[in-house]
Amino acid sequence: MKREFAVIGLGRFGGSICMELSREGFNVLAIDMEEDKVNEFRNIASHAVIADTTDEQVLKELGIRNIEHVIVAIGENIQASILTTIMLKELGIKKITVKAQNDYHEKVLNKIGADHVVHPERDMGKRLAHKIISNNILDYLELSDEHSIVEVQAGKKMAGRSLIALDIRAAYGCNVVAIKQGNEINVSPSPDAELGADDILIVIGADRDIGRFERSLADD
Ligand code: ATP
Repeated sequence: MKREFAVIGLGRFGGSICMELSREGFNVLAIDMEEDKVNEFRNIASHAVIADTTDEQVLKELGIRNIEHVIVAIGENIQASILTTIMLKELGIKKITVKAQNDYHEKVLNKIGADHVVHPERDMGKRLAHKIISNNILDYLELSDEHSIVEVQAGKKMAGRSLIALDIRAAYGCNVVAIKQGNEINVSPSPDAELGADDILIVIGADRDIGRFERSLADD
């Protein structure tokens, strides 16, 4: 059976989730209180409905109980986002992902039991800032408040040198956990093999140490 999703709120964020899930072949119930938004998704989602999800009866009538994973992408109306999430929780939805508008909203959503709270503008801003620090930083992922993972292209600075020679752990306190070479990911990279300029190092560490490592790459 195909996995079932529902996306509530078809703004830029919810709309692109709905589009991508549909393109990947999943069943998506697209919901928005505005007719124009719903019309945009009539030919994209499996079902598109006009509804105000702050009304519990409406949610029941939509059969939302049968949906495995609901994404709440209501942004500006924080009250509607919180109310919708509480009701989805009460209806027993197994997985609820909610977009938070600010840190306060995020805290409330975590308290009421949202399974996954996303903060796309803030997270994208952070990732972009790390890419800006150095052309070699390809991606940045926050693991916790204090730890992150970065993907770094070896580039000129590291090409021709081995992990032993670079000794990133001693110099910066971070660990290289894997090396990507084209489509291959080597999770136990040989410490004395020479790196190629196109190799991508996956580095994990405390933010403070990752920061020092990133800055050391800045003038590459
Ligand atoms: P974007 O993803 O475009 O940045 P945003 O964060 O500005 O969106 P809004 O535009 O406030 O978010 O909300 C996204 C969508 O959610 C809108 O299309 C809006 O009509 C819809 N929406 C808001 N409240 C409700 C509700 N109670 N029930 C259903 N849909 C709602």
